[in-house]
Amino acid sequence: MAGLRFSVMNIVTRAPTVLEQLARNVIASSGSPDAGKAIEGFVTQTDRDVAFQLESCVHCGQCADACHFYLVTHDPRYTPVYKLRPMLRAYQSESSPFAKARKWLGLATEVSSAELTEWSKLLYDSCNLCGRCTLACPMGIDIAGLVRRAREGMSVAGFAPADLYKAAERALDSGSPVGIGWPTLKRQIEIQEEETGVKVPVDVQGADYLVIVSSIEIAAFPENIGAMARIFDQAKLSWTIPSAGFEATNVGIQIGSRDISAALVSRIVDVAVRLKVKYVISPECGHAYTALRWEGPNLLGQAYPFKVVQIAELLDQLFQEGRLRMRGKDQRRLTFHDPCQLVRRGGIRQAPRRLMNAVSEQFIDMPSSGEANFCCGGGGGVSAIHRAEKLRFAAFECKKEQVAATGAEALVTACANCRNVLEDAIEEHGMTLQVLGLTEMVAQYLEPDPLTTSR
Ligand code: SF4
Ligand code: SF4
Repeated sequence: MAGLRFSVMNIVTRAPTVLEQLARNVIASSGSPDAGKAIEGFVTQTDRDVAFQLESCVHCGQCADACHFYLVTHDPRYTPVYKLRPMLRAYQSESSPFAKARKWLGLATEVSSAELTEWSKLLYDSCNLCGRCTLACPMGIDIAGLVRRAREGMSVAGFAPADLYKAAERALDSGSPVGIGWPTLKRQIEIQEEETGVKVPVDVQGADYLVIVSSIEIAAFPENIGAMARIFDQAKLSWTIPSAGFEATNVGIQIGSRDISAALVSRIVDVAVRLKVKYVISPECGHAYTALRWEGPNLLGQAYPFKVVQIAELLDQLFQEGRLRMRGKDQRRLTFHDPCQLVRRGGIRQAPRRLMNAVSEQFIDMPSSGEANFCCGGGGGVSAIHRAEKLRFAAFECKKEQVAATGAEALVTACANCRNVLEDAIEEHGMTLQVLGLTEMVAQYLEPDPLTTSR
């Protein structure tokens, strides 16, 4: 990726073929796992900063007590830093200051293909990239960030889970990791227009805000689109949804491939530049925010000519500016699940809480909420890995305890993937808790506007 430092306009006009080819090269590796290539990938990822972090571990074990996979199983293999062992070994035997001495003394052992196949389950199935361990480490080691780096080596060498390679292929082929195209979104928009009586503007050049959505919202929670339409209509926001480049999710972040991530981010940048918008709204999806807001400019080597705003932040801003007229509150006891990528890696803590207090009479935070919150268990691509399902349901035990401590009658969140995963796990655990979306909650308690007209 070092050579891909184009201007934004070049990204839009020239890079897609280059970026897409690089991305497809990663997917092509899935048919032929290659341990040598993985070791090469680990070494490439181990720059000075990563080496410093790998060398800094004092083996205190505090990261284990932060990780829900370890807490529910007490399996030492699920200790966060242990998941990095192949990367550490590759560094020690190939590029550390004592690599040659290690080899000479026979202390360096090759990481085998069989080990990497086994480690794929540790680096992918048992890590949500949630960052809870990162906060716990007294040495300041960004363990989640290093797992993400290790996944780069795994994905380029064919050791990522097959489900994620397939999702990446679908995303590149159709624009969506689950194969949802514009005709499906168009139909969902039409249904929402009928239900809300509000027109959803499509491909409007020069709109202030570009709304992108996740496939999960389109397929499972299309009411979110209607909710945004009602809210933006009342706030008199200038906005639009694109008919291409509307997918917010980024499987490249999950599989751990900068090349796939860059190819997918560039599609959003492409449409945002073409429509000349001032802002792109990152929807209710945790990792989509990480991909677009934090990683995107670095992946593409340029600052964006627009700002990225997360939907919860925008709703909070509109609420604080007095542009949302609220009426009534939910009388049930409600709690809020913080999506890891929004709160821990994105710093969005207060906005959803102000909104929750605006719509709920009895909002109560979970113990260890906010930055200390437990993941739903499905982040980091885990929800897309079928072989990980049993472990994901087991890891939900930590979340279950958190929720139970509040006595909440319903759970609200701001990520469609979390919502999906939470609903699944709640059913699996025999619970009856309802899971709701934050944007829908805000729309539900908007004062109905008698003057609502199609614009
Ligand atoms: S990032 Fe989260 S899931 Fe992954 S090892 Fe750390 S605490 Fe566990
Ligand atoms: S918390 Fe940090 S220093 Fe302690 S074992 Fe984990 S990675 Fe090593």
